[in-house]
Amino acid sequence: MLRTHTCGELRLIDVNKEVTLAGWVQRVRNKGGLIWLDLRDRYGVTQLIFEEGSTDKVLLDKAASLGREFVVRTTGKVIERTSKNDKLPTGDIEVKASSLEVLNAAKVPPFIIEDETDGGDELRMKYRYLDLRRNVVREKLQLRHRMMQETRKYMDAQSFIEVETPVLIKSTPEGARDFVVPSRVNPGEFYALPQSPQTFKQLLMVSGFDRYFQIVKCFRDEDLRADRQPEFTQIDCEMSFVDQEDILNTFEGLVRHLFTNVKGVELGGIERMTFADAMKYYGNDKPDLRFEMKFVELNELAQGKGFAIFDQAELVVGICASGAGEYTRKQIDALTEWVKRPQIGAKGLVYVKCNEDGTFKSSVDKFYTQEDLKAWAERANAKAGDLILVLSGDAKTTRKQMSELRLKMGEELGLRDRNVFKPLWVVDFPLLEWDEETQRYHAMHHPFTSPKKEDIPLLENDPGAVRANAYDLVINGVEIGGGSIRIHDRPTQQLMFKHLGFSDEEAQKQFGFLMEAFEYGAPPHGGIAFGFDRFCAIFGGSDSIRDYIAFPKNNSGRDVMIDSPSTIAEEQLKELSIALALRKE
Ligand code: ASP
Repeated sequence: MLRTHTCGELRLIDVNKEVTLAGWVQRVRNKGGLIWLDLRDRYGVTQLIFEEGSTDKVLLDKAASLGREFVVRTTGKVIERTSKNDKLPTGDIEVKASSLEVLNAAKVPPFIIEDETDGGDELRMKYRYLDLRRNVVREKLQLRHRMMQETRKYMDAQSFIEVETPVLIKSTPEGARDFVVPSRVNPGEFYALPQSPQTFKQLLMVSGFDRYFQIVKCFRDEDLRADRQPEFTQIDCEMSFVDQEDILNTFEGLVRHLFTNVKGVELGGIERMTFADAMKYYGNDKPDLRFEMKFVELNELAQGKGFAIFDQAELVVGICASGAGEYTRKQIDALTEWVKRPQIGAKGLVYVKCNEDGTFKSSVDKFYTQEDLKAWAERANAKAGDLILVLSGDAKTTRKQMSELRLKMGEELGLRDRNVFKPLWVVDFPLLEWDEETQRYHAMHHPFTSPKKEDIPLLENDPGAVRANAYDLVINGVEIGGGSIRIHDRPTQQLMFKHLGFSDEEAQKQFGFLMEAFEYGAPPHGGIAFGFDRFCAIFGGSDSIRDYIAFPKNNSGRDVMIDSPSTIAEEQLKELSIALALRKE
């Protein structure tokens, strides 16, 4: 090694040792005859000292000439500091340098490489390798590393075998667009990158692997958001001879293992909720259970009293924001404007303040007596000092709007503490979901998900009511994982494709290999996949998964550091037998 110690290692007991350190110059403080230099590496920062008189002039001048981020190596003696820095683990000592070697010079970095930086997002993305030198950024990737190691430990101990599946495949329907790769040796043909290893892990079950997992890259061409990247990582798992209960228990074990060993948090039990209840009480299939604020339906209490907007509504629904009864006119107006923004789309917001003296003040006082409002408050479990917020309209849209408002109120009232973790299994998802645009049913999870046996007769006449053996893991309102018990016989799989609007030929062309495999002794099986980047972000207490990815893409799916995607040479296109003619529409 070019060094005897790291920059995070030396303590008082090392005083008088002759050491050699190497690292980056974080800062030089030049007080004339006295120079302090902070030397940084992954492990920490150590202060070097160069002093006129005891340090020779050449060395002093050399130290003075160093710029930020120069890579240097120094040898010297560890001495006790006269003024100690208790914020630094190495703050009791410094190294009195006797030699200094510049291993590499550095241009002035485009932003300050310290915990607090002056660099904007785009700039830091362009120079991601410099951003990664910052502790706060690197620590996120170290958290990811820990989670990966602990995942492998748990899965291995549970007899799961890690198997790699191919990246050049054909379409796996997870509901997004595919990224495609042209084949040179098969002109005019394309591979698709896996949206998930779904079909392969099922084939491994047919092969008798019994328990499979993989920490794997998946690719989905979707519009990007803070919690979405075009390439992301899953902990992908599959098991044979299991029912839903076995899967939930096995992976509750994984979640618990990670919380204990990475985060030092002991989870209570993981609650369960049906999809139907999640929608009814939270308007959302991934409710944030760090706070209650359940929906209360007010239809029979609020209708028939002459308020036309409520009378015409399919649903009148309220939430009780505890302790928000003191909200001012201005605050309530701001909330009203907030729900009226196009992103939420509500027409208005009705409020009822539960006054300390037992009276009620509402925006619809004209239509409702104190008795009426008291009945609402009782239904909503509201006490003096609370605020009831009510939305109305068609049921589906109103639930969605109320779900947003609930989260907003949770935020405003400080109920979404990042250090509190409320995991939840959402179960009994519908098998199919009606898509207005294409006017047909889509698989809500994916087409390999099995319907609940008792619901199969509904498939013909009421497909929307069929429930699936499908489940999601939600933590603090974020979907962290999802899976299902699969179909494992050809006739049921064929029936499923039929209901999804595939012709026999299409189903055969796309998934014939899987249906054929089912004819060679496929065991009952099921599985789950966790969004690993999101899992890391939840552990790190952040909304964005980008920070947990070493080299992420920006909002337009671009890597601004390597400048990709980019055009390719005419020669490459020729080899691929491709002529470019971009469509304008
Ligand atoms: N392949 C599914 C997904 O990516 C997960 C699963 O069903 O196991 O969401």
